[in-house]
Amino acid sequence: MLKRELPVSFYFRIFTFFFYKMTTKIIDLSHPIAAGMPVYPGTPAPVVKTLAQIASDGYREDSLALSSHTGTHIDAPAHVFLDGASLDQYPPETFLGTAFCMALLPEESLQLEVLRWLLEAEKAPDFILFYTAWEQCWGTPAYFDQYPMLHRQSAELIGSLSPRAIGIDAPSFDRVSDTAYPLHRFFLAKNILLIENMCGLKPLAGQFFTLLCAPLPLAEADGAPARIFAVLDHENIERP
Ligand SMILES: [Zn+2]
Repeated sequence: MLKRELPVSFYFRIFTFFFYKMTTKIIDLSHPIAAGMPVYPGTPAPVVKTLAQIASDGYREDSLALSSHTGTHIDAPAHVFLDGASLDQYPPETFLGTAFCMALLPEESLQLEVLRWLLEAEKAPDFILFYTAWEQCWGTPAYFDQYPMLHRQSAELIGSLSPRAIGIDAPSFDRVSDTAYPLHRFFLAKNILLIENMCGLKPLAGQFFTLLCAPLPLAEADGAPARIFAVLDHENIERP
């Protein structure tokens, strides 16, 4: 019988697959979507209804009713501008790239110091995430009150770094009471998308890594819930 030789590229693929599996760690940065979860003041909570059950119907199916800004989600320019781009207008490669996570320090001078370092190091990542530890208030009324904010000068420095998106583990980049939405308008006018209600950022503070943030494929979306993963390679994992 003739023995078919497998091409060298096949073995190489197998090797790289296992090497990747052994040296890569993935962290989920999104809150689960569930009935009764925290929602922005005035936004309806998600409603989950049972349409079919395995015991009676042989299969299970639920219906979901959600705001486009439920849980961990991405804001598009269409959120605050009549002629703004909607999320579905961005090509898929927008949502995969390099990221840096910065601890959002309360003082303006400290925020600026880290951002200037990023600017001067010419390491401009595709995504800049802010770890504020505010996630610890998730599920309490305090979550939507007095959460950490970017200072205006920091926002301007971020604008000059031109990331594709910035993200935070707090409900918004503006105060709930500030209905002029100054930082939403500032960033979204520059085509910098906003990721809100992130979680799990603590181990990423001060690190560079790969980020995948995939919004639901909603047509003409002013925003959409997103599943977000940090992909860490062996360099990230070995660092203390
Ligand atoms: Zn939003």
